[in-house]
Amino acid sequence: MSSTPTFTLNNVRKVYSNGTTALHDLNLTINDGQFVSLLGPSGCGKSTVLRLVAGLGKMSSGQLIWGSNARNKLAFVFQEAALMPWATVEDNVRLPLKLAGMSKAASDAAVAEAIAMVDLTGFESCYPRELSGGMKMRVSIARALVTKPEVLLMDEPFGALDEMTRSRLNSDLLDLWQQKQWTVVFVTHNIYEAVYLSNRVIVMAARPGRVVADVAIEAPYPRTEEFRTSPLFNQYCREISACLSRAANHHKEPFSESPSPRANMVDSVA
Ligand code: ADP
Repeated sequence: MSSTPTFTLNNVRKVYSNGTTALHDLNLTINDGQFVSLLGPSGCGKSTVLRLVAGLGKMSSGQLIWGSNARNKLAFVFQEAALMPWATVEDNVRLPLKLAGMSKAASDAAVAEAIAMVDLTGFESCYPRELSGGMKMRVSIARALVTKPEVLLMDEPFGALDEMTRSRLNSDLLDLWQQKQWTVVFVTHNIYEAVYLSNRVIVMAARPGRVVADVAIEAPYPRTEEFRTSPLFNQYCREISACLSRAANHHKEPFSESPSPRANMVDSVA
């Protein structure tokens, strides 16, 4: 895997206009080709990080430094599929290209390719109301992929789906990531999902939002169902769960334990 930085966040602070400090001195570098999950409880600033990286909002202080041209090759997948109910699958997927001024003829091949990538070939003429929740999310992902991004920012895309559908979409997303070598930044509050997908899990804590651990998930890809039930998987889940509990309790019990060998504690939580 490349060690070329895709982007770096330097001492980023974000204070919203109501006075909420969403992020406090956040430092994070993500490299090309990494699959990184931002994991933490609700309100710890995960979505704020993603929005700042996408340019959807201004930081109060600090810097976002892009290491390559990736800034122009970003795609964002939101929590909700947010499809146009009056438009077919094909027209929903075509939207970013249409907004960029591309004609139907010029965009047809890219639209078909994106639909095929998410396994929805044959459903081009369906309307969102005819699709399951998982299929709607596939359309939303295809709409992001149609622009041929290099960096995929995903904000809890599978949070509203049932466990079986989430698991299937997790596997399909990993297959695509392996083929396309995108850099993925994936927001989730689900430890199992983060460990299954990622080669790196950034553990965050709230009040104020900050990074408390940076855990490398050293398991090979492709990851299969065997990985999900392996002792190694369980070990990572326990380790990350312990990081989250320590961070949540730090104001009650100062954190003094040494970090485990794998977890790189990047911020003082004591
Ligand atoms: P997460 O994605 O981890 O749930 P967010 O980034 O959405 O966290 O929010 C971090 C903190 O910032 C929370 O306390 C949230 O209430 C606050 N926040 C998020 N967006 C806004 C906003 N537009 N205005 C004021 N506060 C906000």
